[in-house]
Amino acid sequence: MIPYFDPPPIVTVPITGSQKSFPVRRIFCVGRNYVAHAAEMGGEVDREAPWYFTKSAHAIGQSGLTLPYALESQNYHHEMELVVAIGQGAFRADAEQAMDAVFGYACGLDMTRRDLQQVGKDNRRPWDLGKDIENGAVVAAITPKDVVGRLNGRRIGLSVSGDVRQEATLDDMVWSVAEIISHLSRYYHLSPGDLIMTGTPAGVGPVHPEDVVRGWIDGLPDVEMKVSPRC
Ligand code: MN
Repeated sequence: MIPYFDPPPIVTVPITGSQKSFPVRRIFCVGRNYVAHAAEMGGEVDREAPWYFTKSAHAIGQSGLTLPYALESQNYHHEMELVVAIGQGAFRADAEQAMDAVFGYACGLDMTRRDLQQVGKDNRRPWDLGKDIENGAVVAAITPKDVVGRLNGRRIGLSVSGDVRQEATLDDMVWSVAEIISHLSRYYHLSPGDLIMTGTPAGVGPVHPEDVVRGWIDGLPDVEMKVSPRC
């Protein structure tokens, strides 16, 4: 059968030092993976198991561009995160098998309509309007894991127009990359192209039109977005 309309384009993210790109399949996001961020949101981390929400692959925003202020929000927030790119299938993986599934790592922004997320929380509704935002999953180039090396001790942070707002280390993550992949692979057949945003440190806050948001993790290319005016 011929498609009725042109199929949507495959969404891709650049790969550091490669002419090839990384095709995005799904985006999983970990909730409350840093103690201090859970506290600033008025909650606690869940030490029983990690938990998740998702964003559409078509929510990817390319790093380095001017990206729109989220539609229908008055409180658009930055969340700086380590992104794990899956390059090999994982299903019911133990911690060691989980790391075999990793293709590489990137800096990412889990942009959030905080006002609409709060409406969802208050009314016990899903978070989609708060989280699944067009251009609201901003992901920089993915660096292969062998180039990156061990993640321990690396600093993660974010500035808005030069003011540092978020600072932590990856050691502050409650659930490690291996633990997250192992747990998530009990519920999904993780496959090449899946991305996992691993949660944000404390210091989340609003962005405004004309702001330049820059996030960093030692050893990875920065993620950057400029916020366009509301429309
Ligand atoms: Mn997040």
